[in-house]
Amino acid sequence: TEYGSSPPVYPSPNATGTGGWSMGFEKAKAFVAQLTLEEKADMVTGQAGPCVGNIVAIPRLGFPGLCLQDGPLAIRVADYASVFSAGVSAGATWDKDIMYERGHAMAEEFRAKGAQIMLGPVAGPLGRSAYAGRNWEGFSNDPYLSGVAMFETIIAAQDAGVQACAKHWIANEQEIQRNPDYSTVDTTETTVAAISSNIDDRTMHELYMWPFADAVKAGASSMMCNYNRINGSYGCQNSKALNGLLKNELGFQGYVMSDWGATHAGVASIEAGLDMNMPGGLGPYGLNFGIPSYFGGNITLAANNGSLDMSRIDDMIIRIMTPYYQLGQDQNFPSTDPSTADLNTFSPRRTWTREFNLTGEVSRDVRDNHGELIRRHGAAGSVLLKNENNALPLKAPRNIAVFGNDAANPTKSSVLNQQNYEYGTLAAGGGSGTGQFTYLITPLDAIQERAAEDSAIVQFFLNNTLIANSNVSTMVIPRAVPDVCIVMLKSWAEEAEDRATLALDWDGDAVVDSVASFCNNTVVVTHSAGINTLPWSDHPNVTAILAAHYPGEQSGHSLIDILYGDFNPSGHLPYTIAMNASDYNALPTTGIQTNGTYDWQSWFDEKLEIDYRYFDMANMSVRYEFGFGLSYTTFSISDIQSSPLADEITSMPEAQPVQPGGNPALWDSVYNVTVSVSNTGDVAGAAVPQLYVGLPSSAPAGTPIRQLRGFEKVHLEQGETQTVGFELRRRDLSYWDVVSQEWLIPEGEFQIWVGLSSRDLRVQDSFTIVG
Ligand code: BGC
Repeated sequence: TEYGSSPPVYPSPNATGTGGWSMGFEKAKAFVAQLTLEEKADMVTGQAGPCVGNIVAIPRLGFPGLCLQDGPLAIRVADYASVFSAGVSAGATWDKDIMYERGHAMAEEFRAKGAQIMLGPVAGPLGRSAYAGRNWEGFSNDPYLSGVAMFETIIAAQDAGVQACAKHWIANEQEIQRNPDYSTVDTTETTVAAISSNIDDRTMHELYMWPFADAVKAGASSMMCNYNRINGSYGCQNSKALNGLLKNELGFQGYVMSDWGATHAGVASIEAGLDMNMPGGLGPYGLNFGIPSYFGGNITLAANNGSLDMSRIDDMIIRIMTPYYQLGQDQNFPSTDPSTADLNTFSPRRTWTREFNLTGEVSRDVRDNHGELIRRHGAAGSVLLKNENNALPLKAPRNIAVFGNDAANPTKSSVLNQQNYEYGTLAAGGGSGTGQFTYLITPLDAIQERAAEDSAIVQFFLNNTLIANSNVSTMVIPRAVPDVCIVMLKSWAEEAEDRATLALDWDGDAVVDSVASFCNNTVVVTHSAGINTLPWSDHPNVTAILAAHYPGEQSGHSLIDILYGDFNPSGHLPYTIAMNASDYNALPTTGIQTNGTYDWQSWFDEKLEIDYRYFDMANMSVRYEFGFGLSYTTFSISDIQSSPLADEITSMPEAQPVQPGGNPALWDSVYNVTVSVSNTGDVAGAAVPQLYVGLPSSAPAGTPIRQLRGFEKVHLEQGETQTVGFELRRRDLSYWDVVSQEWLIPEGEFQIWVGLSSRDLRVQDSFTIVG
């Protein structure tokens, strides 16, 4: 995988309508047959308009155009819409039902606002680096967990009649230099190219492609190709990535749209597999509307002079229109809410060069009862990391002190909670993956409201600098140790910027030290993009730690439900918290000093060894391992049994015609594992038994010691036991063989562990499949 080693894969495969798409496919073909060449160019070229991405209407055919909207946790450019929990929170639930419920409710809001396309969910970045600025938009740095969440979200969104767009395909693993740098253009017209993610074939398949395979299997309508280069070639003109991996190997039937401004060529991109150019114009971010596009008129020209085949243009539009018809978007789909255009700072009305006819009620309230779901989802995505002396749940404390700048209302804007203000609670990260809050329940408001039921006093101190530099005992009244000191801290992440640190923002660690030096019942709550180093975690006065992630608009309610025991915590870490920040490998590539065009190279030399795969291989201690999370009850796991689901399991039966998701044999269940899970504590709760697979030693070098290949969320009453089953599919027991270019089941003994985290393995079994 050296620079320039991305091999050519041509031609671009035509969609066939396989995998349940035939109804939409036939209608799409009939639609394309009626289009003029100019209309065809319009169908694949974004325009400035009311939404973040727009395809113009063709009124003579009754086609209303397409409205594409961000993003992964809300319809972003909207009023009267909900802000749901972030991807990282959904990942931390380890709850397929919640993943589905969240995706469905979110998509209902897109539909009601008249957006056919939801620009989410996210599996790229996967989370190669702990520092990457957009990890929180996705679910987990484990491809299996991320893949399940992608699958559930996409099925859910499309069940609600909205097209999902899985993004960003692929290896979009850092923000720094994600785009070419035009600002350093020198006299020789050199630009500095975007970072190249240089990945070997096996790692590409087993880590980065894995959750996207689930997305394709789920029937994702579209994929967004990425800003960066992949093995030297830009994501949106990389024929290996688009034609080869996505359309040929995974059998993707939908369309590839470019990330905003990620198109750097016309015909070359189209032949490499790009189907739709977004947002359409030329220029660094595609923002220069009015300047001709790489697509648009250039498509007309290229078709007329024979340099672009009409069949390829038709395939692009068939791919775009198949999901439109298949999901019934041609029937009674709501019009784009006119308020969308008023709120759209991306392409304000004065930039529009084409007609958009906005009709229907303005500022439709699409929130329904989603606040109730969001409250529950926020709680379910919070991970209890420590709970000593039964600190939690709280037992009607009468003297509560709240510390930290994450506790209260943002001082600048509640709507723009996505900005990194010093004062104010964080309920989402920033950039295109955020939402605009119509209301925000802060932790402090919710604590005060709940504490009033116990006639408690609630005193609060919001200035981190002051807390960190003061003797806390002189701040509180009465001059006694409060029953509980709740420390609310945060860490920020946003698009276009990687995190500078894994420490809590605004001197958060010093705030904990200061409070804990006085208060022997210090409960620390973090609102965070994900991984934080928690150097004080063993401090004896820090009795509880709750990683509450980015919970969305009901943040304070989600929190008090856990603090007061109305919701028994059941979240588990979708990543590892290491002992020290310096323990993490796979850092973003930063600080390239020269200005050579191709200087920005990111070598994925760690291969499969990211997060727990790395810490396990290196036999390193960690603070809180992948999959860890406490409950107010305890669980036991026993009685593991495994059995094959067929008399004879072949490594890979002869190639079957490719279906969405790739070779269908990969998705066949071949082995069944069951365990008994019991609630051994005092209250009802939900366990997350996790199944890890260790491949036989005949698997190629570099195979991780164990990898997540199953999980379930099991609700258990006090004393209850349930049998939990895991079906292992062929892909779950395979590695990607770079020689045969197939997934293969290795010969020898498989190890299976089921536990409550990646290091709390309770039962083990082994079996042999091949050989
Ligand atoms: C982001 C995409 C987003 C698009 C439109 C880009 O900068 O990378 O994720 O969908 O903008 O807002």
